Amino acid sequence: MNQKGLLIVVSGPSGAGKGTICKELISRDESIMVSVSATTRAPRNGEVEGISYHYLSKDQFEAMIVSDGFLEHAKVYDNYYGTPKKFVIDHIVNGDNVLLEIDIQGALQVKKKYPEGIFVFILPPSMKELKSRIVGRGSETPESLEKRLSSAYSEIEYIKNYDYFIVNDKVDHATDILQSIILAEKCRVAADIEQIVCKFKEETENA
Ligand code: 5GP
Repeated sequence: MNQKGLLIVVSGPSGAGKGTICKELISRDESIMVSVSATTRAPRNGEVEGISYHYLSKDQFEAMIVSDGFLEHAKVYDNYYGTPKKFVIDHIVNGDNVLLEIDIQGALQVKKKYPEGIFVFILPPSMKELKSRIVGRGSETPESLEKRLSSAYSEIEYIKNYDYFIVNDKVDHATDILQSIILAEKCRVAADIEQIVCKFKEETENA
């Protein structure tokens, strides 16, 4: 029997650095499969179709909702975002670990459908640092900056729905912590109990 892969769900306020941590994680561990979300928002400079996101029109996105193509989907800052279901399920069943970087509404939907996922919340070191990171990105209009900042505080209250938190002070250290969480989760007895017991039983019988 193949052990199922882990589903690792990472969220946190815009500017907390979850994207940077996820990029660092996959550069360190190529075995982790990253789910590419679909979105109706326009590509930003440097983003690539199929790698950053699958860019869909509103009609295409809504058709995919109707055909039950999403594991979760949510409206974030006036645009749709969603996780294509097939990729995630196929890889988990195949024993691969899958990483989702999604907003809190989406994470709560995934938790309902798949409570054995690992839910990790990324915090900024402070609200001041959060603001300077979003401003530094230079990709937001003053209106969207204001929206992201006012959402951030209320989003942090949802941390209680998560299993782990990481304060993203330094990306390297934050990624070390995320890797440690994944390593610990792989060693959970419940994850592999039958295989562990079987292996030792067989070895004892053959000794
Ligand atoms: P951005 O526009 O900055 O790329 O993403 C905005 C927000 O949407 C971020 O909080 C990001 O984590 C979230 N997001 C990205 N992909 C998905 C997704 O597939 N589902 C959900 N629910 N949120 C997503």
